[in-house]
Amino acid sequence: MSEVRTRFAPSPTGYLHVGGARTAIFNWLFARHHKGKFILRIEDTDQERSTDESTNAILEGMSWLGMDWDEGPFFQAKRVDIYNDHVERLLNEGKAFYCTCSPEELESKRQKALSEGKKPKYDGKCRGNTKKPDVPAAVRFLSPNEGFTVVDDLVKGRVVVENAELDDLVIRRSDGWPTYNFCVVIDDATMKMTHVIRGDDHLNNTPRQIQMYEAFGYPVPKFGHVPMILGPDKTRLSKRHGATSVMAYREMGYLPEALFNYLVRLGWSHGDQEIFSRDQLIEAFDLENVGKSAGVFNPEKLLWLNAHYIKESDNRKLDSLVAPFLEAKGFDISKGPDIEKVVVTLKERAKTVLEMADFAEFYYREDLIYDESAAAKFLKPESSSILEALVARLQGISDAEFNHDGIEKVFRDITEEKGLKLKDIAQPVRVALTGSIISPGIFEVIEVLGKGRSLKRLQKAIDFVSHKA
Ligand code: GLU
Repeated sequence: MSEVRTRFAPSPTGYLHVGGARTAIFNWLFARHHKGKFILRIEDTDQERSTDESTNAILEGMSWLGMDWDEGPFFQAKRVDIYNDHVERLLNEGKAFYCTCSPEELESKRQKALSEGKKPKYDGKCRGNTKKPDVPAAVRFLSPNEGFTVVDDLVKGRVVVENAELDDLVIRRSDGWPTYNFCVVIDDATMKMTHVIRGDDHLNNTPRQIQMYEAFGYPVPKFGHVPMILGPDKTRLSKRHGATSVMAYREMGYLPEALFNYLVRLGWSHGDQEIFSRDQLIEAFDLENVGKSAGVFNPEKLLWLNAHYIKESDNRKLDSLVAPFLEAKGFDISKGPDIEKVVVTLKERAKTVLEMADFAEFYYREDLIYDESAAAKFLKPESSSILEALVARLQGISDAEFNHDGIEKVFRDITEEKGLKLKDIAQPVRVALTGSIISPGIFEVIEVLGKGRSLKRLQKAIDFVSHKA
């Protein structure tokens, strides 16, 4: 096989949607698997709806997901001369014609066909108009009337369309702008794409596009049309179902590895394996195992994968991810405990980075707020002696002993001395140090908070109990 060349060709009319991202990922993986090239092309011929902001959002989403591109981004709006040259070529060869039918005329013919129960189709009125008229005119592709066009789709299998079914497509509008179906063919042909992998909402366009490749004598790439992503109600995934923007997942504390892995598996399988490193995906990815039917987006599975990737993550990396979330909540991390140690105590329980930042708040709060019911239950007059005993013991231990084991020993001594169980001590201490009864292991919490902060919080709890008493 010649060098594999794939592309992602988003229209910059919004953010990077998870469906678009998955198309990009499939193209990227396919190119990487075959040691080929992955090209990025921005399809901005719809000048009214295309924005720079959206282009930037798409590039940002791609980078966040860790996809690099070998060529581009190319912008269609800058390639209009190339499209026009191709329009001229078809006109000169008698494979396209000028059309001066007015929109009103076309619409009334359309309505008439519909009312007669026929499929609306351009009636070929201007066929043969190869001379440029004096009025602004569209250009249409002269579509063959006979025969069939076959798409041997790598995902969907063979699709055969009767040419008579296909319209003489407008390839350049009367305002001078070439149309999507035309530009895409010229780009894919001149950029020498070998494989076009895209959403199956484009499958209808493919036979028309193949006719145009053939008209130019360009090699036809292989096509693979990937089913859409659906929401739980089996309709196309949209905002109604929750977040659909890639960057919204970053804001919700998802790791790009998790979203990447999730999106690939949603639509492609490799036995029962769920978790893949990027290298494993590059190694294993193929189009044969892309499913023919649409996958349903499952937020719980994505969350499960995210929790997995958080547990697997390097602590330093997690620090750098959690810190901005905490800062955004208004905490000054430099005034609190070492964030790397904080992260270690939370990575087994947090399912998202945002959740990790929520859990981490208590470490950085100057004035701890007690959960009301936890305080009512555990910060009672009889807790005072426990808290006081702990203050006394912790004050007494050296810095070298101020670690998990040293702290555990302190707790053991107190339980023995007072004839209590560990949980009798741990719960009031937990509320005193974290504000609630749910927290990482209490010895770890004390170690991470450090002696000074732990003692201050214990003292505050003692005061709280005595004022209440
Ligand atoms: N620009 C098209 C879209 O965003 C993609 C076209 C293609 O992949 O051929 O839907």
